[in-house]
Amino acid sequence: MHEVQKPKKPLYYYYGVALLMLMCFNLLAMPYIAQKQVKNIDYGTFMTMTDNKDIGRVEIQSNQIIFTDKAEKNVYKTGPLNDPGLVVRLHDAGAKFEGQIIQQMSPLLNILLSWVIPIGIFFLIGQYMSKKMMNRGGGNFMSFGMGKSDAKIYVKSSEGIKFSDVAGEDEAKDNLKEIVDYLHKPDKYKEIGASMPKGVLLVGPPGTGKTMLAKAVAGESNVPFFSISGSEFVEMFVGMGAAKVRDLFKQAKEKAPCIVFIDEIDAIGQRRDSRVAGNDEREQTLNQLLTEMDGFEGNTGVIILAATNRPESLDPALTRPGRFDRRVPVELPDLKGREAILQVHAKRVKTDGSVDFNKIARMSSGASGAELANIVNEAALRAVRAGRSAATEADMEESIEVVIAGYQKKNAILTEQERRTVAYHEIGHAIVAADQSGSAPVEKITIIPRTSGALGYTMQVEENDRYIITREELENKIATLTGGRAAEETVFGTMSTGAANDIEQATKLARAMVTRYGMSDEFGMVQLEAEGSRYLGGETYAQCSPETQTQIDRQVSAIVKAQHEKALKILAGRREKLDELAKYLYEKETITGEEFMKMLEG
Ligand code: ADP
Ligand code: ZN
Repeated sequence: MHEVQKPKKPLYYYYGVALLMLMCFNLLAMPYIAQKQVKNIDYGTFMTMTDNKDIGRVEIQSNQIIFTDKAEKNVYKTGPLNDPGLVVRLHDAGAKFEGQIIQQMSPLLNILLSWVIPIGIFFLIGQYMSKKMMNRGGGNFMSFGMGKSDAKIYVKSSEGIKFSDVAGEDEAKDNLKEIVDYLHKPDKYKEIGASMPKGVLLVGPPGTGKTMLAKAVAGESNVPFFSISGSEFVEMFVGMGAAKVRDLFKQAKEKAPCIVFIDEIDAIGQRRDSRVAGNDEREQTLNQLLTEMDGFEGNTGVIILAATNRPESLDPALTRPGRFDRRVPVELPDLKGREAILQVHAKRVKTDGSVDFNKIARMSSGASGAELANIVNEAALRAVRAGRSAATEADMEESIEVVIAGYQKKNAILTEQERRTVAYHEIGHAIVAADQSGSAPVEKITIIPRTSGALGYTMQVEENDRYIITREELENKIATLTGGRAAEETVFGTMSTGAANDIEQATKLARAMVTRYGMSDEFGMVQLEAEGSRYLGGETYAQCSPETQTQIDRQVSAIVKAQHEKALKILAGRREKLDELAKYLYEKETITGEEFMKMLEG
């Protein structure tokens, strides 16, 4: 972002440079300039002048003799000769032996040349430079002087981000609009006695536009915006981070009303627990932050926005009233949000009329704003690669697959038998999905290998976003996942490694059904596992005894097994279609959901 500017170098730095340049100038250029006025004459003339007693001052150097006439109007120089009687003759002529003739010859001119003019030039350059900086972006940023804090500041940026640049996220925007309103008309709030929250915590998964929203608040309210990442506070030495916090708040209070944005606040705001080896530096920094937040009154106009995707790891002291007491969720975009985000980013690239953004949004279920931006960019890159002038619907679809599954692996060499196995495997998934009511429609089936390692895949696209999923639907999903392996078994009577990813997903679903969704008959509504992080996914933590874990494992495998058997049964009843479709896919490599359904029903 070019409206961001690192703090300028401190003023004394420029003074130092100027002084250095001045000294160089005096050392190198001055003698040259002075020398120009010295007349070069031959030794004979010098001797004649000496005889005529027309010598004022004289300086004998090793490589030249510099002297003036009696009136000291002109300065001359001549090369020295081996002339032993010279000094005596000069003395007789009444010459004064003085050094530094050149510098002394005209003190006024000397001062003028070596100091006044250069300083004047530097002054003019300085004026010009500062004017140029002021003009850029209409006074975009301000110098931090000798500040210790790394916070970047930008002010009233004319090209700043506005709420309209952030697509979707309407709830978050509504919430933040109040802050903008407050910064515009604080009196309205003060009259009633309402005070704004000092801190607002933006929580949500990575890439959902938290940073963008914070910038938009500053852009909309036309106030200075300090931005710093939590990790920048964590310094090598204990106490440095705390000093930075102090410094940041000092500057913020001077610039109030303003917005301070702390990205990734979990880097410093982590829960202080009874860990044996605590992190002194981080705790000191956090303590300083807490102190600073308590230290200023509610209505000073300093509003602190912070972002995190691990709200559960934050120290409770940080989120209590009076500190970050307002929490604004910035969730993954829903279908409408995804469509809007795609359109915002598509405006920056050329697209032809064929792009159906609603379809692309449906295909990219679960993608964050950053991923959607990436999808649009990938599509544009693909269009350039193909020599087209605008991105098409096909570019968009392919770029979704690139983001999901990696690039096409053009030269992966699969044997015929392997390709046939993959074709049966994918058709197996598709048929099991299609034969169960309530499964998401099949959008596309392909057996083109991808760089991610997938040898093929079946893409299912829901009509709408799903917020709750029933037990039956989960079971159907597991059945669909086992469909690939089931087809291999049905046709070839053996198993392959191609189902590893399916197995992983099926197990995860079945385990979640038992441990988190309370869908097992034996345990009922008991939480047996806790999720590590709501927004980052990944780890879960067992909440039960080892004996229970053994039973969980048994139930998980029972669920998957039951669905696997269901899939085998479905495929046995569709054996002819399975052969027919697998052959078709083998030949065409990619088929659409429509083609598939037509053949399956035909
Ligand atoms: P976060 O701070 O939540 O990790 P960012 O604000 O840094 O996410 O967003 C990263 C990028 O993703 C942005 O620069 C933007 O291009 C894109 N993006 C994310 N959310 C949105 C949105 N709602 N509207 C438009 N672009 C978005
Ligand atoms: Zn599979």
